[in-house]
Amino acid sequence: ERINIAIDGPAGAGKSTVAKKVAELLGYVYIDTGAMYRAVALAAYRSGVDAADGDRIARLLETLKIALYPGPDGQRVCIDGEDATAAIRSREVTLRVSQVASHERVRLRLVEMQRALAASKGAVMDGRDIGSHVLPHAELKVFLTASVKVRAARRFSESGAEQGVSLEQLEREIVERDRADAQRVHSPLVRASDAKLLDSTDLSIEQVVEQIVAWSRT
Ligand code: C5P
Repeated sequence: ERINIAIDGPAGAGKSTVAKKVAELLGYVYIDTGAMYRAVALAAYRSGVDAADGDRIARLLETLKIALYPGPDGQRVCIDGEDATAAIRSREVTLRVSQVASHERVRLRLVEMQRALAASKGAVMDGRDIGSHVLPHAELKVFLTASVKVRAARRFSESGAEQGVSLEQLEREIVERDRADAQRVHSPLVRASDAKLLDSTDLSIEQVVEQIVAWSRT
């Protein structure tokens, strides 16, 4: 029987890499909710809307068509038909997304979309508030963490070097984003009381994936 799996945790814990592989192994769809917040942040940035202006961003969101497509190289994100998969990973977006995600109206709309995407079960959804808020009845909830050093190093090897950012700078930005995500009034980064804690600091991706797949079968 198909279930829903919620994977939450701080920036750079390896959620998307792991969630993608778990979905592949189980034949489930992978839903990256961070990509949705990033898409909104990108659209706001391009339209010159201030990340602090929740009402304008919410209105902009009403006019946008954000679509997620599961694909062989992971999830692709389109905004109004344009593929924005790469653009949502830019630094301009990463530096603004926490503030864009802090607005209640933005969250209400995206959470509604996320619930619809998981309605037929068989979803692996990653984010910050999936187990605690978006899918409180998910059959399996995992809270994935790792030390700040390891998280920064992973982000660095993914794209930091490419974008000309130092490891130290990335580490500072990760700490700052965690702080912003944890202190929000609306749906902060919290571990659901029934989420299984998984610290990946000293584990390989394969070990983390194996553990989650094993949990999904019990
Ligand atoms: O996971 P990722 O780093 O792509 O998420 C980008 C940002 O989107 C997070 O830092 C957080 O501010 C926001 N986010 C959120 N709720 C989620 C997923 C992401 O607020 N469920």
